[in-house]
Amino acid sequence: MPIYVYRSSEHGCAYCASEFEVFQSMKEQPLEVCPHCGGKVERVIQPVGISTRPSGKALLSDKNLAKHGFKKFVNQGDGTFHRTV
Ligand SMILES: [Zn+2]
Repeated sequence: MPIYVYRSSEHGCAYCASEFEVFQSMKEQPLEVCPHCGGKVERVIQPVGISTRPSGKALLSDKNLAKHGFKKFVNQGDGTFHRTV
């Protein structure tokens, strides 16, 4: 389930005056009021996909695996495994 970040759009209580996170299913309506004080809140749009970490593909590249001391075995399709790293 994604985590959504909300923040009070008014004065808010101690809970919502700063940002707070809520687990919500994507089907759920966004929160409109603070669960503590009932004051109006707005969803804070989080930047997505901005990361300085290598992507999953790069993390699992043969070169990166070897660098970090992992071994990699690839299924040959006939029940045998071939070590590539
Ligand atoms: Zn509040």
